[in-house]
Amino acid sequence: MLRRALLAMSASESVRHLVTTVPLTRDVVARFVAGDTADDALAVTRWLLDDGLLVTIDYLGEDTVDPQQAAAVTGEYIGLLERLAAAGMSGAGRAEVSVKPTAVGLDLAEHGEKTARENIARICAAARNAGTTVTLDAEEHTRIEPTLRILGQLRAEFPDLGCVIQSYLRRSPEDCRALAVEGSRVRLCKGAYSAAADVAFTARAEVDRCYARCLRVLLAGPGYPMVATHDPRLISIAGALATLADRPAAGFEYQMLYGIRPAEQRRLAGQGSRVRVYVPYGSDWYGYLVRRLAERPANLAFFLRSLASHG
Ligand SMILES: Cc1cc2nc3c(=O)[nH]c(=O)nc-3n(C[C@H](O)[C@H](O)[C@H](O)COP(=O)(O)OP(=O)(O)OC[C@H]3O[C@@H](n4cnc5c(N)ncnc54)[C@H](O)[C@@H]3O)c2cc1C
Repeated sequence: MLRRALLAMSASESVRHLVTTVPLTRDVVARFVAGDTADDALAVTRWLLDDGLLVTIDYLGEDTVDPQQAAAVTGEYIGLLERLAAAGMSGAGRAEVSVKPTAVGLDLAEHGEKTARENIARICAAARNAGTTVTLDAEEHTRIEPTLRILGQLRAEFPDLGCVIQSYLRRSPEDCRALAVEGSRVRLCKGAYSAAADVAFTARAEVDRCYARCLRVLLAGPGYPMVATHDPRLISIAGALATLADRPAAGFEYQMLYGIRPAEQRRLAGQGSRVRVYVPYGSDWYGYLVRRLAERPANLAFFLRSLASHG
């Protein structure tokens, strides 16, 4: 209930203005975001790689309706990949990038899908030069179909382009079956958005059950599953299913968000699992922050406490 209300409230311009202009917010943002610049993202990436973790970097921003902005975001990713390669951090996919299709043009009034596809192809080419990969983030449910279309078209040229499946959507087990093919990189998460009951599960237990169903399909298939969750129960189910499927530790990875359960990230890496941390950076952190607060009432309390202490 609270989660749905927060996600809905985040669309209000006055709420956005309030949240982004209060100075306290910086402390809360710093917990989940590497910083404003590529320098900040590279510094955090270096530190995580040195700790034995893998990284995927997200340049914050979404829902772009301006072609120039979409081109600028694309340029930012290409520059970032060049810098990762120059710093020796991208080889063998140690640090890769996550891209939101709406940040690179999907929502443009004219030729949105074509523009997003072309921009993503440019980022994939830069990633290939850097020895690494790209994963397409999943956004609101209305964007899933065009995102999967772009994925299907680009995988012919870039077979290692990855995508995200959200277990809150009823369609996801079927999408997993279609995507559980050789070389296919699929990140499974619960989903940070909300949708009506005809397309989505609204009860947590149902979302979790669907996650386990999707895990079973992905871990039994020939692709490369990326298990993105902080949920201890699902993490242990994933480990057990991987063992059942005789999947070696190098045959899948766990993924968690920067700033969330860092000790667990290191524990899993310490036991020999591949663990990738999702590191967002950039000044357009509002949507990302609201989704993190909506996920967990304790985060919201932390936010409100800092509001009070700075007030
Ligand atoms: C690497 C990665 C990439 C993602 N990419 C996408 C994407 O492309 N599209 C999309 O819709 N969603 C994405 N998500 C977000 C995801 O859908 C969930 O919203 C988010 O991960 C919370 O769900 P959970 O699986 O951790 O389980 P939950 O049931 O939400 O949490 C389980 C436990 O994890 C801890 N935890 C979870 N969230 C938080 C938090 N915000 N702060 C502190 N502790 C927390 C708590 O201990 C909690 O009890 C991604 C998540 C990860 C880890």
